[in-house]
Amino acid sequence: MKKYLLFLSLVISTAMLAQNNPESDTSWKHIYRAEATKINDLVDTKLDVKFDYSKSYMYGKEWLTVHPHFYPTDSLTLDAKGMNINEVALYSNGKKTPLKYDYDSMFLRITLNKTYKANENYTVYIDYVSKPDEWKERGSAAITGAKGLYFINPRGEEKDKPTEIWTQGETEHNSVWMPTIDKPNQKTTEQISMTVPDKYVTLSNGLLITQKKNADDTRTDTWKMDLPHSPYLFFMGVGEYSIIKDSYKGKDVAYYVEKQYAPVARGIFGHTPEMIKFYSETLGIDFPWPKYDQIVGRDYVSGAMENTTATLHADNAYQNARQLKDGNDWEDVIAHELFHQWFGDLVTTESWSNITVNESFADFSETIWNEHEYGQDKGDEKNYDDMQTYLNSNSDNLPLVRFHYADKEDVFDAVSYPKGGRILNMLRHYLGNDAFYASLHKYLTDNKFKNGEAQQLRLAFEAVTGQDLNWYWNEWYYGTGEPVLDISYVYDDAAHNVKVIVQQKQKQQIFKMPVNIDIYNGANKTRHQVWMQNPVDTFTFGYTTKPDLINFDADKVLLCRKTDHKTADNFKAQWKYAPLYVDRREALQYFADNKMVDDLSLGLNDKYYGIRSFTLDELRDIPEALTNTDILKTIERIAQNDEHNRTKSRAIAILAETKDAKYKYIFDKSINDSSYTVAGAALEGLGNLDSANAYTLAKKYSADAKGDLADAVNEIMIAHGSEDDYDMIAKAYDELPLGQSKIQSTMSFCDYLSKLNDIQKIKEGVDKIVAFRNSIPQQYRKFTDAPINAALQKVADAKGADMQAYINNSK
Ligand SMILES: [Zn+2]
Repeated sequence: MKKYLLFLSLVISTAMLAQNNPESDTSWKHIYRAEATKINDLVDTKLDVKFDYSKSYMYGKEWLTVHPHFYPTDSLTLDAKGMNINEVALYSNGKKTPLKYDYDSMFLRITLNKTYKANENYTVYIDYVSKPDEWKERGSAAITGAKGLYFINPRGEEKDKPTEIWTQGETEHNSVWMPTIDKPNQKTTEQISMTVPDKYVTLSNGLLITQKKNADDTRTDTWKMDLPHSPYLFFMGVGEYSIIKDSYKGKDVAYYVEKQYAPVARGIFGHTPEMIKFYSETLGIDFPWPKYDQIVGRDYVSGAMENTTATLHADNAYQNARQLKDGNDWEDVIAHELFHQWFGDLVTTESWSNITVNESFADFSETIWNEHEYGQDKGDEKNYDDMQTYLNSNSDNLPLVRFHYADKEDVFDAVSYPKGGRILNMLRHYLGNDAFYASLHKYLTDNKFKNGEAQQLRLAFEAVTGQDLNWYWNEWYYGTGEPVLDISYVYDDAAHNVKVIVQQKQKQQIFKMPVNIDIYNGANKTRHQVWMQNPVDTFTFGYTTKPDLINFDADKVLLCRKTDHKTADNFKAQWKYAPLYVDRREALQYFADNKMVDDLSLGLNDKYYGIRSFTLDELRDIPEALTNTDILKTIERIAQNDEHNRTKSRAIAILAETKDAKYKYIFDKSINDSSYTVAGAALEGLGNLDSANAYTLAKKYSADAKGDLADAVNEIMIAHGSEDDYDMIAKAYDELPLGQSKIQSTMSFCDYLSKLNDIQKIKEGVDKIVAFRNSIPQQYRKFTDAPINAALQKVADAKGADMQAYINNSK
């Protein structure tokens, strides 16, 4: 699963604050979260379901084939949440024999007709009604719902929203719509027959084997998955979709999108076959399932979910052709869910405590896809960014393998994802690509269609490499935190040597890790591998000429926080000679922090657009840099010619800030650019030069504005807009996607409302803001309520007591 990206930073800080709150209930710390005991094993699940859109109910018939795991048993307990159970019977040779059962709306406890022995199959038949909207259970930071089965706009009451059905199983939510043993350590083959209105298409796991038209304008589609997978990976999707077909080695690869996105579906998902090939070849295990479909669901409760052969994406995946000009924002998610088809679906975590064997791999897969497709700089940037996400998450107290948690949903966090991904990346560097992927191949082969935990992973690595790796697992999988390093250098020209002193200052364990140190004299470098393993390690290297740079962690893979006591000259040498993205970025960061503008501006000519963008962002914050003619000339060139739109638009935005009319020709040309970010920056520039005209321009470009262009339009409309523009501005506000940027826009929207006279419009605007505030999942609201309420208060302050009362009443 991929988290709800827009709230990622909030997700993480929220989870951590909850952990650190001394008043919260900490009794969970004493509960060991073991793998679920297997009394019975699922073998096959056959479902026949029909949807009632008027009540948001699902009528189900299920044939569940099961056998005792080892010990004989005469009972079967199933997870079945909030259902009506109509009938439970033993099903044998087409005959049903009623069985005794007990149901408490969580568990269906069935008494069998006799004691069954290990591997003696039996089939129970259950007739039931699933009532997802009546089931109340908390979701998580990652998944904001626990209904399992979601009816979207089922009665067509919401204008402009399609009617859809989709399901979300992880963690244990599919048992809201099918009685099952809802644990990840169960695996079952599957067949689902869905009866739906004929105008809809359906999607589920495996292959569509039959479609039958019924007399009542409905159709029954039967999907069959004959390879076993876990119940949380079961999926159903229903709606009016266009199906865009690709293929990989004769297997269908398809994208289910709403009709208007059919022309861009390949722009969004079209890398999928190439990704399947890359991951298949990298792992040495060809894509293990009969087909691969991806579907987009409205109002989805997470980012995306790796249902076996039927990945579900949030509607943030939808981007139009102009948005795609700025790069595909959803590509990492597509890669992530695809890699889960091996890590998560083929080999599944045995319990939520070991979610790392699913999520850390999916996270890591984003790095290697970027590296493969766009080059090492891009892969390194991804790795660096994800490392910062973890380091900023304040999660030093949580181990990767998590046997203690308050709620199973809590494990979907910055430790399981970006920290775990970096732990795998370090291991890849330490062992080498060949050994690393051979080990993954062994893990997947040994455990396919079964479950895994971190120890099985270790054993696979040990078997392949011949090395004991307990130390690595103990530190990174079972220990907490990361090295907090202080690195200093003592040069002794008389003795011709340098001491590199590495202190580990973290409160947790001392880490043992191999580190590469490159010693540079000009472009010539010598590599040394050392092991840090003590609270203080001193490494001594001889030299004839004093080195220009000692580059600690030369591969820039070590997950750590560091204070590196390099000099300005060291960083200049690093910029010039050290090859990696992070080498260059660290040097530029030093130049920026120390206002070394000339050195910083060298980054404008870097071969990689990510470094050029970073440099532009840093220069923008240094006023004196933007009075430097040479630097401005370079920025002017980037604003016209950079091959990458996001870099180009940053340059244009800087020129816009100068309010210098000589750049008008760039703004005039760029305002019609197909890229929203380029056009948005140009609109800002034009607006700054001619504020009277800005309003007319903004209105003109508002017809097709998203992303940066929409922001620029809104900013101008809100600043200059009149009472008459209310409908357009309110619509723009409504259409902003849920997320942090909408909180920013709420401030501007309140400024605009404060200027209006029409009380009805102001109240309507306030209602929209209150609805947005209240739609934010409860767990974030302690962070989001304050800024939104402060913005509302500005409206009250501007409009007086009546408005104050109105806002006070808006709970
Ligand atoms: Zn995932």
